[in-house]
Amino acid sequence: MISFVMKNGGTNIQSWQGKSLRVHILYSRAGIAQHIWIESKNGSILIDTGDGILRDLLSNKLDPDRIRGIVFTHGHFDHMGGLHSLLGFLRMIGREEPLPICAPKGCREVFSIVDNFIGCYPNTIPFKISCKEAQSQEIFQIAGMMIEAYPMVHCGSIKGSGILNQIPALGYRISHKGETIAISGDTGICPSLRELVKGADLAILDATYQKSATVSKESLEKLHLSEDLAKEIGKLAKDFILIHKGKEKKL
Ligand SMILES: [Zn+2]
Repeated sequence: MISFVMKNGGTNIQSWQGKSLRVHILYSRAGIAQHIWIESKNGSILIDTGDGILRDLLSNKLDPDRIRGIVFTHGHFDHMGGLHSLLGFLRMIGREEPLPICAPKGCREVFSIVDNFIGCYPNTIPFKISCKEAQSQEIFQIAGMMIEAYPMVHCGSIKGSGILNQIPALGYRISHKGETIAISGDTGICPSLRELVKGADLAILDATYQKSATVSKESLEKLHLSEDLAKEIGKLAKDFILIHKGKEKKL
């Protein structure tokens, strides 16, 4: 298992190579965009499609025809803002293979984009899109990868309005040929996070805040992990990558 940085198309992306799975963190920055490419011999799945997904796929020479399905952790704009573009691109290149799209049950942002896209082009989408509303503990399969959903705790927040209500959010354990990758998506610290990560070959964890000490307990419980908390959780897996970091502090 190797973690490395790939320089391609002018961007640096963090990657990980296991025995049967390969991961590219195509882009991840809190409040901007996040998308992760997971590849097996049978094809790839995308976890989240933030704004810039097409740019990041194509500039890294990843073949969109390899995408066997898209899985969303939650519906915040930085995780799904590129979905319409990706669907439009796949229509333009004449994809014929059905495309499963999976998101947490009740994730209106994702399912309404799909409904809208199908409504715009009722007779001219050459591939079938099937939507799946995933629930916690559910197991499903895409491209030979077993995907198990874990409930995460994540709320929205608006500057000036504070922390909003909890939204549907899932973490996923993705297994293929005895190898397992755990992806938290955005989450506060919660008991099922440890279950999600325990024993995985790789954990990919939200680390939005630089330090727990400078953030309220409520934010760490309802919004995001800090780098120190994510490291502590990450040690439950054999290897880990911290993503979704927030703004760099100004010097
Ligand atoms: Zn979020």
